[in-house]
Amino acid sequence: MADNKLYEILGVSRTASESEIKRNYHKLAKEYHPDKNPAAGDRFKEISYAYEVLSDPKKRQTYDKFGLKGLQEGGLGGGFPPEDFLGHFFSDIFGMGGGGRGRGRARGEDTIHPLKVSLEDMYVGKTAKLQLSKNVICGPCKGVGGKPGSVVCCRDCHGQGIKVSYQQIGPSMTRQFQTRCPTCQGQGETINDKDKCSKCKGKKVLNEIKILEVHVEKGMKENQKIFFRGEGDQQPDTQPGDVIIVLQQKSHDVFKRTGDDLLMEREISLTEALCGFEFVVKHLDGRDLLVRHLPGEVIKPGDLKGIQGEGMPQYKNPFEKGNLYIKFDVTFPENNFALEEQLQNLESILPPRPAFVMPTGEDVEEVNMMEYTASERSRGREEAYASDDEENMHTGPGVQCAHQ
Ligand SMILES: [Zn+2]
Ligand SMILES: [Zn+2]
Repeated sequence: MADNKLYEILGVSRTASESEIKRNYHKLAKEYHPDKNPAAGDRFKEISYAYEVLSDPKKRQTYDKFGLKGLQEGGLGGGFPPEDFLGHFFSDIFGMGGGGRGRGRARGEDTIHPLKVSLEDMYVGKTAKLQLSKNVICGPCKGVGGKPGSVVCCRDCHGQGIKVSYQQIGPSMTRQFQTRCPTCQGQGETINDKDKCSKCKGKKVLNEIKILEVHVEKGMKENQKIFFRGEGDQQPDTQPGDVIIVLQQKSHDVFKRTGDDLLMEREISLTEALCGFEFVVKHLDGRDLLVRHLPGEVIKPGDLKGIQGEGMPQYKNPFEKGNLYIKFDVTFPENNFALEEQLQNLESILPPRPAFVMPTGEDVEEVNMMEYTASERSRGREEAYASDDEENMHTGPGVQCAHQ
């Protein structure tokens, strides 16, 4: 439960004597000195800090009781500010935070906006205007929030922005609470009402409407991100984050997209499937593509045909394009019993039917096929399984297992 990191850094136990701590510190400091061991990075700083705390009885006591946070609250001075150390400590050693938090200014959050784009716009490219509201540093007070010198450290939290309170939860145990300071709303500083900037009322920032021109380039894709570096909300002493536009492709009536390829479905009649056809596809850039299929080259239901170079342009290389694929469905004519003579004509030009051989004997039984809808089929199957189950209970594996 207790924070033990500083002891671990020096490789000593919590009960280590002063001389033991000193001995280990000298040993480690030698080993990790930047002159000797530049690759060790900040290890030397950590060692020095751990020793600075543990060699001082008062600081050690505070640390033993409240951990690193306790030291920070106590405003411990030293070789380098504890916040810096803590930030580094948590980000580098425990893998927390990290990333944007460098030695310089803190970085604000990124703002993410989805932008719906048609497939046509992704094909030909487009500049979209996007209106968004963002915080900017107040001009009149330059982000100070009031007259020069009017900003004072919050007396309630001593500039920490948080208040720490302790609760006794056992004979020798206290629990530590942290709450946002109500006096300064966690800012760590306050401004007298009469000194507050009249424009931003002490908030340091103003809300502004900004128009961004988003260039949707040829071949951009669903979920592709467009970055506007540093266009995020501004805040004093903070490097603004980015505005990130995330493209979302609207669905298209005709085309589906997979990568740089386009896919469309087309229904043709049996006559077209056998005798050829022509049709026109309106492409995404407005061109009419004439698709022609020669008679005699039969198209079967589910056939897929490709047209090279009529897919989407490649991003950053728009003269190269994917392919357009057309998947065909063939609709067959409705029942027609009246045209026996015409059917004979049709048969005369189609490949011959396979010859039928009538089996001999008394077991030949002619049966009727009838229309069967899907719901009747599933009902019929359930009944069949139900009766199977009853039989199978006694006879072991049966019809169902035979499917596996
Ligand atoms: Zn405060
Ligand atoms: Zn202002």
